[in-house]
Amino acid sequence: MDEALHKAAGLVRRAGCVLALTGAGVSVASGIPDFRSPGGLWERHDPMRVATAEALARHPERVWAFLLDALAVAGRARPNPAHTALARLEAAGRLSGIVTQNIDGLHQAAGSRNVVEFHGSLARYSCMGCGLAHDPTAALALTAGDIPWRCRDCGGVVRPDIVFFGEAIPLDALGKSGQLALAADCIVVAGTSGEVAPANLLPREIKARGGVVVEINLMESAYKGLSDVRIAAPAEIALPALADFVLS
Ligand SMILES: [Zn+2]
Repeated sequence: MDEALHKAAGLVRRAGCVLALTGAGVSVASGIPDFRSPGGLWERHDPMRVATAEALARHPERVWAFLLDALAVAGRARPNPAHTALARLEAAGRLSGIVTQNIDGLHQAAGSRNVVEFHGSLARYSCMGCGLAHDPTAALALTAGDIPWRCRDCGGVVRPDIVFFGEAIPLDALGKSGQLALAADCIVVAGTSGEVAPANLLPREIKARGGVVVEINLMESAYKGLSDVRIAAPAEIALPALADFVLS
């Protein structure tokens, strides 16, 4: 990885404004397997039965059984060196922000401030009936007998602020990520294979305007041919090494 790491560090150092785009690979070392990988949540649950807007409306108990499983995985996760490396770069003024496809809140837990959550967060809840915001720590205390989680005020089903299949990306996330991409002349893509739209368009936008794409992915991805360099290492190894070089 050394040669790629040197090249990547040079590109990041020379850039005027660097943005990061992160995905599931960044949180694997925190104990959250990629939903789509072996051992991931989609091995135990059919996403079309438990993670759609329609299922939430018609079968909230089924959706909440899935959410309890997701919370059991994400609720005990802590940031790993990939998250802290990005927080260090931001604190040093070398990173403008992070657009993440993850819903685990681990970037913020690591100290990152400017985080755009493209697919929402498991750390925010509201009632589908009256809109009341509900305490995320209460979600972690739910057991099988408590689901679906119901609003104490109106009895409506409480939902997490995550984007289910068939739902639109929140407008504020789209707007903020667009602004960050417009200002950036370098994007560090980490732990995401570039198959999920529209997040995967951000590197293409930046590249089309003459910017550079630094990729951190263990395996070849949909960014092949777009990336100026790929560090073929896990995010929790490559990102701290990159931050060390850039900040040295
Ligand atoms: Zn309510």
